[in-house]
Amino acid sequence: MKKAVFPGSFDPITNGHIDIITRALKLFDQIIVAIAYRKEKKPLFSFKERVELAKKSTSNLPNVIVKPFSGLLVDFVRKERACTIIRGLRTISDFDYEFQMAFMNRKLSPEIETVFFLASEEYAYLSASLVKEVAQMGGNLKDFLPQPVIVALQKKIKKEL
Ligand code: ADP
Repeated sequence: MKKAVFPGSFDPITNGHIDIITRALKLFDQIIVAIAYRKEKKPLFSFKERVELAKKSTSNLPNVIVKPFSGLLVDFVRKERACTIIRGLRTISDFDYEFQMAFMNRKLSPEIETVFFLASEEYAYLSASLVKEVAQMGGNLKDFLPQPVIVALQKKIKKEL
């Protein structure tokens, strides 16, 4: 079985992420969406919330599993018996960072390949941080986020105001 890991902060999961997962399902038998703990980043949603939202948002997709992880990504990939890391590319600025990370991961674990998916045109401008800003200003979120995320984000923003 060809398994791939799609790692990220997913703070929160967006339609851009869902698009990558859906497209990756055509190439792999199973996608593990790996939610990173990331102590150094200050996420809007807690680790538990990010995992729950990703689970709810992918529940209609067959062969997608959501799992939390901390520590080295390559260790997690090996533990899951996967062979591939999936990442998305939107802009040139993504490229720089993604390249560094892919090379480092290859150095740490040469048997694991990183595969990049180019963002679909309609999501190329979409980032979790931008969507959070739009939400704070009361913008319409339906083209950007899965429904469970819209509900959770609006709740969180109301609480903060
Ligand atoms: P990280 O903090 O690890 O970058 P993210 O949750 O921001 O985690 O993103 C996870 C992956 O999804 C990254 O490879 C990122 O480039 C990709 N990604 C994020 N948004 C989009 C999008 N709109 N279209 C395609 N790929 C995306």
